[in-house]
Formats: sequence, C-alpha cells, structure tokens
Amino acid sequence: MSSVTLSDDSSRLGPEERGVALARMAEEVFDVVVVGGGVTGSGCALDAASRGLTVALVEARDFASGTSSRSSKLIHGGLRYLEQQNFGLVREALRERSLLLNVLAPHLVRPVPFLYPLTGRAWERAYVGAGMLLYDGLGGYKGLHRHRHLTKRAALRLAPALAPGSLIGAIQYYDAQVDDARHTMTVARTAAQYGAAVASNAEVIGFLREGERVTGVRVRDGHSGEEIVVRAREVINAAGVWTDDLQHLVGERGKFKVRASKGVHLVVPRDRIQLDTGLILRTETSVLFVIPWGRHWIVGTTDTDWTLDKAHPAASRTDIDGVLAHVNRALAQPLTHEDVEGVYAGLRPLLTGESESTSQLSREHTVAVPVPGLVAVAGGKYTTYRVMARDAVDAAARSLDKAVPPSCTDVTELVGAAGFRALFNGRERLASRSGMHPARIEHLLGRYGARIDDLLTEVAERPDLGQPLEGAEDYMRVEVRYAASHEGAQHLEDVLTRRTHISIETWDRGLTSAEPAAQLMAEVLNWSDEQIEREVDNYRARVEAERRSQEQPDDLAADTARTSAPDVRAARSDTDSTARRLKTARGPQTATARHAGEGLAP
Ligand SMILES: Cc1cc2nc3c(=O)[nH]c(=O)nc-3n(C[C@H](O)[C@H](O)[C@H](O)COP(=O)(O)OP(=O)(O)OC[C@H]3O[C@@H](n4cnc5c(N)ncnc54)[C@H](O)[C@@H]3O)c2cc1C
Repeated sequence: MSSVTLSDDSSRLGPEERGVALARMAEEVFDVVVVGGGVTGSGCALDAASRGLTVALVEARDFASGTSSRSSKLIHGGLRYLEQQNFGLVREALRERSLLLNVLAPHLVRPVPFLYPLTGRAWERAYVGAGMLLYDGLGGYKGLHRHRHLTKRAALRLAPALAPGSLIGAIQYYDAQVDDARHTMTVARTAAQYGAAVASNAEVIGFLREGERVTGVRVRDGHSGEEIVVRAREVINAAGVWTDDLQHLVGERGKFKVRASKGVHLVVPRDRIQLDTGLILRTETSVLFVIPWGRHWIVGTTDTDWTLDKAHPAASRTDIDGVLAHVNRALAQPLTHEDVEGVYAGLRPLLTGESESTSQLSREHTVAVPVPGLVAVAGGKYTTYRVMARDAVDAAARSLDKAVPPSCTDVTELVGAAGFRALFNGRERLASRSGMHPARIEHLLGRYGARIDDLLTEVAERPDLGQPLEGAEDYMRVEVRYAASHEGAQHLEDVLTRRTHISIETWDRGLTSAEPAAQLMAEVLNWSDEQIEREVDNYRARVEAERRSQEQPDDLAADTARTSAPDVRAARSDTDSTARRLKTARGPQTATARHAGEGLAP
C-alpha cells in the first residue's frame, strides 16, 4: 500500500491548478508527455508519475469525454472472451477487477449481480455452469460471491420482469461496476497528486521533431487559443479512437490502426423493469446487459461500424429500436420509447493491422513505437487500463536515459480510497455529525470516498450547498461546486454529463438543473452573466440536437442532427484567458514564453 503523504491539495484540478500546470508545461522538459485524458492516458500519467518520472497529461476536451464516459461501466473479465477461449485476457481482467474492488478504488467500484437466463437447450446449464466455474476460479473470490444455479421459480422470484416462457432456469454470477467518468477523472487527480502537470481543454495540434525523433508536442489552450510548446523525452499517444489522427500529425505511418465501433446504451427508470439483479442476455452476435445504475437501469449495447464525428457519436432511432427489440424478447412487459430517460453512444477503439479484415479486430491492447520518442497504446478494455498504462510506460522508460523503477500502480490507491472502508463503516456517525441523512452520506462516500470531508466542510460553512440540486435531487449543490473547484470541470456539460450523470438520469436531460448548476460553477470559475447564459444556451442546444438525432433513421442523419449544435469548446472566451490566470499564478513569463516555431511537425 502506498504510504506517501502529500499535501491535501496536490490532487486538486481547479482553474488555478490548470494555470500552474500549463505554466509548467511551457517551462519544463518532461520525461513523459501523455496525450489523451481518457482512462488509458490518465492511467499512463499516474503510472509514470508514481515511478518518479516528470509527467504532463493533456486532454483536448474534458477528462473521459471520449469513450471513457460512454462504456457499459463494467469492470469485468468478459464471459464472452471465455467462450472465445481467450483465457489470458479474462484472467488479466479479473485480476484487475479484484485490485480495483479491494485496493485501488473500493469507493468507486462495487459488486453487481447478473442473472444468466437459461433458455431451454439441455446442454446449456452444464456448458454455462462450467464457464461460470472457470470465471469464478480465474477471478478469485475476494470481494465477490460465487455463482449459483437457480430453478425457474427461483429465477423468476429474483427477476419477475422476465417473461416466464423465456427461461427454464438461470445462473446468477457476480461482476463489478464503476462510474467510468468519475473513475477516469480520479485517476487524473491521483496523477496530479503524485506530481503530474494535468490540463484538460488542451489539445495537441502538432509534434516537435529533432531529426527522426519526436521531442514534444504543440498544445493549443482551449480557453485562450494560445499555443504552448511542451518538450519531452518521450510522448505517449493514448488518444483512443483519435490515435490515427495523432499519428497523422506526426507525419509518418503508425504501426497499427484504430477503428471505431459504436455502442449505444439506454437508461430507463428502475421501476420500469422488476428485477433484483442485473441481466445478461444472449443476442445473435453478442450479449445485452441490463445493469442496475442507482435509481435506473442501463440497457445495452450495440456494435456497429462508425466513421462519422468522433467527439459526438450519435444514437439513431434504429439503434434505440434495436436495443429495445433485444431486451423485449426477454421481458413480460415490453419497454417502449416512452420508457427511455436517457441515451448515450460510445466508440470502441478497436485495433486493426493494415491487412486485417474487420472481423479480426482485436479487443486486446497493443503498444508500439512508431518513431523514436513516441509510444502509441490502444485497444484493450476499460477494466485493463492499468495494465495498458504499465506496458506503455515500460516502453517509454526503455528509451529514457536513466533507471526507471517498475510500475507500482497495483498498490497505489486512487484519491479517496485510503480509509474509505472505515469511513463507510462509520457512516451513521458521519451522518449525525454532519446532520445529513445517512443515504446522502452513502451517496457521497460512493462518489468521493475519503474525500467526503472536503464536501462536508464546504456544507458546514455554507449550508445552502447541502441542499439538493434543482431538477436532479439525487445530487447536492455542493457537488457541482466541487466539480469546478477540484475535479477539472470547466463547462456546464462537464458537470451535467460526466461529474454527475444528470444528462441521462432525468427526463428533461438536465434542462431544469442547467441554470442553477451554471450559477454554482460561476462562483468558482468567475463566469460573467453572459458566460452563464452562453453555457446554458449551449447545453440546451446540445440536448435538443441529441433528441433530434435520436429520431433519425440512420447514422448519417443522426450525425448531421447531432453536430448541428454548437460545440461549447469551440467558443473561446477572451475574458477567460489562461494567460491572465498564468500571470496571477506564476508571473508574466510563462505560457507564451516559448512559442510554437522552429523544428515542428507537421
Ligand atoms: C459501448 C461501449 C461499452 C464498453 N463497455 C465496457 C465495459 O463495460 N467494460 C470495459 O472494461 N470496457 C468497456 N468498453 C471499452 C472501454 O470503454 C474503452 O476501452 C476505454 O474507455 C478506452 O479508453 P481510452 O482512454 O483508450 O480512450 P478515450 O476514453 O476515448 O480517451 C482518448 C482521449 O484522447 C483525447 N484526445 C484525442 N485527440 C487529442 C489531442 N489531439 N490532444 C489531446 N487529447 C486528445 C480525447 O478527447 C479522449 O478524451 C466499452 C466501450 C464502448 C464503446
């Protein structure tokens, strides 16, 4: 277990810290610059920083705004891969599941039960049962129950929503789930805690070259529009489905290609499906999950090729119909479009060699060195991000001119993990000390872990922050403020879609919460009335565009509808300039001191 004690604030990702991070980026020569603040890139930054390397992490949009907030949110070995006899992948993923549940992030990762309905073939119970036995065995049992066989009657008691004719019995097994966006942001915070310079809204727009070697990146600050030259001994490309775009900026061919496959999920209220367990249902080509998610179910997913806008993958009506049709095959009371509260689509970064056919796309990860000074890492799954990060940093370390210790992220707890269990056991005491309902304390512990004190202190000073957020009563006002002050949220959509999930958990998709949330963020980010209005307008336009896209018959029409909304990150504000922040934070000689110029590619 890591015993390093660092200042309480070193993990903070507020506006001042962003300014300081960008100032450092303009001044230092880093051992490693990581491009991409998804779970892979954030994991690389943490891995490198916790080995004592100097690290910068740059994310073009928001942490986890790509695939890492749009997954099925399962930390799992993947029963499917077992069937494909990919035992190595399953064993590795199950080891990560155990680490995340028990050591690294027990506040963010929790067990989830699944029911596998058996549909009638005589051999099925023996076949699936053997698979479950192996799955449990490969994973070890720590922290999770073993699978169990159920009769039809017992299965229907757990899952009255199932059509009685759709099963002859069932097997229940356990996996784990995570709030992916929150976990990714927490990994980035932990990297900052160990000294990484971390900035979102900072897009890599070019690479520095000295001869053949990559020696850094050119970054555009999304707030000010200024360019910063960041020098590094090694650059890691962890840009998910944007990997090839980054590689094009280098100007040379990569060693592998990444293509995108779209997966769509629906969110429905808990009372629409009578279940005391999650479900895993077989489809013709894959599986469909019904996953408990607070007061909701997440139902998904699909798997189709996507070649359109990568920042805003759109779900069409056909996608939604497809998910509904699949789940309805198993349900006694079919779901309709009227039951759908929220919809989200994400893009799987699938690896493909240049000669491979689409059917051979791999879900395993790859690390390559396309040119000296540059490491590319892609593929894999959310669950195995730590292994991907370790392998990428190992590859970078081989070219560094010094001894680099091995990865220690298997014993490095994420921010909020240390002390979580003791606090959780003492939640009644926390409730009476703070005057909050125990359910609120549980909610906060499950999102912030041992960092709950940060929020309780703010509420003690300003009791209005302890009130529920208008339009999204599951969340408290203090969480919105904290997202801006400590968790790197810079726009309203960061809070409504990723720090919270109000955009998919409310019928109005967060429209009622938008104005009050923007007001709370404004206190931290010094927004003018005009900026508040712009943020709210942008968010409204985004919701309308998403709704329109979900009425379209196909991908092209859905993409056109979705991209018709202005992108809040494209609208730069002169009054919100990083240069001004940098002057406050570090004096005038910082971000623009080293301008983009000589020796740059492309
Ligand atoms: C529908 C779906 C369901 C899934 N379900 C699961 C699951 O249940 N369990 C599981 O283990 N895995 C799951 N996965 C897989 C998992 O989500 C992904 O493997 C993982 O999130 C990929 O993370 P990443 O960091 O590689 O990519 P991303 O999260 O996309 O991160 C890449 C980042 O790079 C940034 N970037 C791009 N270009 C630049 C630039 N020029 N400068 C700076 N930054 C840049 C992007 O903005 C982005 O934030 C699922 C995937 C999908 C699509």
